[in-house]
Amino acid sequence: MRKEHGLATRDLVDRLRYSGVRRRDFLKFCGVTAGLLGLSEAYIPRIAQAIEKGTKRPPVVWLNFASDTGCTEALIKATYPNAADLVLDILSVDYNETIMAAAGQQVEEVLQKSLKEGNYILVIEGGIPTKHGYGMIAGKDMMDIAKEFAPKAIAILAVGSCATHGGVPAANPNPSAIKGVSAVLGDAYKGKIVNLDLCPVNVEVLVAVIVNYLLFKKLPELDVYGRPKTFYGQLIHDNCERRAHFDAGRFVEKFGSEEEALGYCLYKMGCKGPMTYAPCPKIMYNDRISWCVKAGAPCIGCGEPGWTDKFAGFYERLPGVSIPGFKGVEFTADKIGLAAGAAAAIGIAAHALGSTKRIKKGGEE
Ligand code: SF4
Ligand code: SF4
Repeated sequence: MRKEHGLATRDLVDRLRYSGVRRRDFLKFCGVTAGLLGLSEAYIPRIAQAIEKGTKRPPVVWLNFASDTGCTEALIKATYPNAADLVLDILSVDYNETIMAAAGQQVEEVLQKSLKEGNYILVIEGGIPTKHGYGMIAGKDMMDIAKEFAPKAIAILAVGSCATHGGVPAANPNPSAIKGVSAVLGDAYKGKIVNLDLCPVNVEVLVAVIVNYLLFKKLPELDVYGRPKTFYGQLIHDNCERRAHFDAGRFVEKFGSEEEALGYCLYKMGCKGPMTYAPCPKIMYNDRISWCVKAGAPCIGCGEPGWTDKFAGFYERLPGVSIPGFKGVEFTADKIGLAAGAAAAIGIAAHALGSTKRIKKGGEE
């Protein structure tokens, strides 16, 4: 695919210039990526070097299965850090049937060549139908294609919630028995598959995971669901910009209301942020312009495995929420303001106690 626009043999700087990416923007991208990976600024030159170094870029085979191709859309529409250009220029995307210009026999040959050569990063977008004949490409079941390409991959990235755990196409009643990549490939691939949940995938997270691989030649540390801990280790609720309203018991009760205009908490409108681990409030979407809650929509929890069934209906209130300071107790919305006030009081008291101890121990603080 790269050869089609004549960039395959240029070095990275030329390629980026050709794509309209200035050197300064490239370094800014490296800085953002270092931040995403939790690395200090000292790593910026190393990231730049890791990316620039490769005349031999890792080949990528991007397979599309049962989905609306929203993750490919997210990739090609990203403008900062110009992820589409950077990913396409950092990597040699040998095959992505949605965005490549060629079709038919020609692309099938490209695909088979990649398979023969091996050592590619395998990106899978979409759920995998596990019933014969329910999802086929070029006469083959998607499940068989996944099993054919997995063994020769150096890493497998399941992008978007359809690929990770089935997502929307696996929602009840799921007539084609769609599953996520890990469930289809099985335990033999544990540690080799990175699940990048969310609908669609967050492109900055995808790029950061790839850069992390280029830099350290290993995949990031994963949680029990195979998601990078760095990005999926915190609750949306704990980083939400409306959290102060939640703590104070200020809620939107109705769309179109004054409370909504004031940006109050969306818990009572069905927000699943208190049960969803994802980086949305920190990294956001659309070049960090916004995310669901900022745009006024309650989180529907698309970063969580099984969210389509677990969190339906999306506008129904979660039955209870845990509050720091009240271990093992779940609060209903009506009691939250009160509980949060008490929790804050406990926090203040604990702080005061800590201060007293410090004063006693050291004489003067
Ligand atoms: S319930 Fe939703 S809107 Fe409210 S603070 Fe939590 S994540 Fe934010
Ligand atoms: S805020 Fe919630 S619904 Fe929106 S993308 Fe993140 S996890 Fe999905």
